[in-house]
Amino acid sequence: MHDFKYKKSELFAENVPARKIAEEVGTPVYIYSRNTLLRHLNAYKNAFKKHPHIICFALKANSNGAILRLLAKNGAGADVVSGGELYLALKAGIPSNKIVYAGVGKSADEIAYALKSKILMFNVESSDELNAINGIAKKLKVKAPIALRVNPDIDPKTHPYISTGLIESKFGIPIKDAVENYSVASRLPNIEILGIHKHIGSQITEVRPFVDALKKVVALAKKLNDCGINIRYLDIGGGLGINYNNDSPPLPKELSKALLPFMNAQNLKLIIEPGRSIAGNAGVLITKALYIKRHANKEFVIVDAGMNDLIRPSLYNAYHNIIHVMKNARKKVTVDIVGPICESGDYLAKNRRINRVIQGDMLSVMSAGAYGFTMSSTYNSRPRIPEVLVKGNKYYVVREREEYSDLDSRVTLPDFLK
Ligand SMILES: *Cc1c(COP(=O)(O)O)cnc(C)c1O
Repeated sequence: MHDFKYKKSELFAENVPARKIAEEVGTPVYIYSRNTLLRHLNAYKNAFKKHPHIICFALKANSNGAILRLLAKNGAGADVVSGGELYLALKAGIPSNKIVYAGVGKSADEIAYALKSKILMFNVESSDELNAINGIAKKLKVKAPIALRVNPDIDPKTHPYISTGLIESKFGIPIKDAVENYSVASRLPNIEILGIHKHIGSQITEVRPFVDALKKVVALAKKLNDCGINIRYLDIGGGLGINYNNDSPPLPKELSKALLPFMNAQNLKLIIEPGRSIAGNAGVLITKALYIKRHANKEFVIVDAGMNDLIRPSLYNAYHNIIHVMKNARKKVTVDIVGPICESGDYLAKNRRINRVIQGDMLSVMSAGAYGFTMSSTYNSRPRIPEVLVKGNKYYVVREREEYSDLDSRVTLPDFLK
């Protein structure tokens, strides 16, 4: 459910016409709904309220500081995958004891930064990394709290690019080697074992893979406890899907109903790391049709947003619903909606049925609140676009449009070129 709906013939973000924002802030622009973000966060809170838990929002889905602050004020923690994300999470007021840190390639500087920040735990992805963390913690004279990320070898039945829980993936430690790795970890003097982590993929639309994976890690927790390794946190990752194209992913309450029976007997605190299911449907990308172009039997709608602004269609062949900001009764046609970037892969939709688009029309790319802005770049030297947060009948620019001067603000010329 989200708050981007037609009222009469016009698309609104909560109670603000999308057209008004587009006219005043310009296009392309990302628009987010505060209401939707909070509704999604609260759906998780309510679903899991019977079991001790922390909801660690995955910053890589959307790391705008205003959104992070909104989530922080409403009790969210953070799942970060870089020093930059840790910085943004702390700056937004997310308490360090609600921050978990994953990622296969944490650098020494990032590890030291996280230790000094006293995060809840590192989700460790290899034995090399474990040793590195132990060494850095020793230098800093602290104990590093960790979970090992185990790879439960579960097929999440999602796109291979966003599937992480299969044995051939680069993520985590194979579950069959987990006990051995935990026993090594338990002998490292500057490591404190807190939990087990797993994350099997993204845009998962069934409960089954979550249940299968949970059973495996709960069994592992029992085994470890039997060996005297005390597991206190079970971090089950994120990955719940959203409705992009008639998908019907489970709701958080359906997920909790399936998972909690396996948890209840355990004295384990649960960590959940949703990203897409909180931010995805809470944002849209508004873009304007610049030109219409017809070849033989193909029609292209060239819009002002490109793959540098929203890369998911180009990268994953992802489907985003695209609708007119101003509803109309024009004839339906089949078009490719493409961006201005000099790449054939630059498209938002292919062979899409949509009411005829004419020059100057504004279109709304739906479900663009997650992995939208965060994956954007300045490719083709296009300044990054603004982000707007709507609350009721007001809107707030929460990131300004970059200017040309931002494109080379860090460029320096060697003497011989001055
Ligand atoms: C990407 C990621 C998430 C969030 O995934 P969503 O599909 O957006 O919910 C959570 N945890 C880890 C470790 C991740 O890499």
